[in-house]
Amino acid sequence: MTLPDPNRDTRPRLLILGGTAEARALAQALAARGDYEVSLSLAGRTRNPLDLPAPTRSGGFGGTEGLAAHLKAERIEALIDATHPFAAVISRNAAEAARVAGVPLLALLRPAWTRRPGDVWTDAADIPEAVARLGAAPRRVLVALGRNEVRALEAAPQHHYLVRSIDPVAPPLAVPHARYIEARGPFAEADERALLEEHRIDAVLSKNSGGAATYGKLEAARALGIEVIMVARPARPEVETVESVEAAVAWLQGLGLPKSPA
Ligand code: NAP
Repeated sequence: MTLPDPNRDTRPRLLILGGTAEARALAQALAARGDYEVSLSLAGRTRNPLDLPAPTRSGGFGGTEGLAAHLKAERIEALIDATHPFAAVISRNAAEAARVAGVPLLALLRPAWTRRPGDVWTDAADIPEAVARLGAAPRRVLVALGRNEVRALEAAPQHHYLVRSIDPVAPPLAVPHARYIEARGPFAEADERALLEEHRIDAVLSKNSGGAATYGKLEAARALGIEVIMVARPARPEVETVESVEAAVAWLQGLGLPKSPA
């Protein structure tokens, strides 16, 4: 008979699918509590991700099957999908993998932004539609999209684009007028306003990501009466969802997880 390893961590094992401030904040809150063994997963898209408060793996799982196999192999007892609202593929995979592996799943999803008085928003269902909604006449556009999404701008080469992304856009876009800024939020409203004025921006292209870190550009656009082309969130799977770290912790506690078998 093999005796249990007295040094083995017997706390319930959680996996947080991350890449967001919410995932970091949840990992931080759980680390402070100390009653779960937490690991984080990143897609590995950002070259220099910020330091994280939990052991972190990086890179895809290999689809739904790969994620389900990971949940089983790592004896994960609860899965929290705290990915970005536009990361629809991994969220679908998480829903299916959790079902297959029999692991409870919660989505931690920040609320979408909603129009406020003074906002001049034009809705778009997706990024190609947003680019089309800029219109035929040349505009000066602040582009707040991921570097993997900006290729859609090539369909409208008449505009002047100011493209902001965390990592460089490489190769550059095949359009005659594009400038690039590498920056990571949070962005303050005053700085956003200065940026819009300096570059004489007359349209902002934004995803409805929600959250405070990148809201400044919308406040600045409102103050300056600049149109925002707002890309709606993609459809997500129907899973239990909360909007705050506190609610996610409460959900975990409500599971009453037994200790992992030693
Ligand atoms: P996606 O389209 O939903 O996912 C594409 C593939 O990337 C998934 O099938 C999965 O590969 C892998 N993947 C995504 N998130 C992962 C994670 N947390 N851990 C391990 N693998 C992951 O995702 P995306 O929109 O490219 O976003 C990638 C990551 O960046 C997400 O973690 C998201 O939270 C973060 N992020 C995205 C945005 C955005 O606007 N989309 C903005 C900020 C941060 P396999 O199928 O091989 O498992």
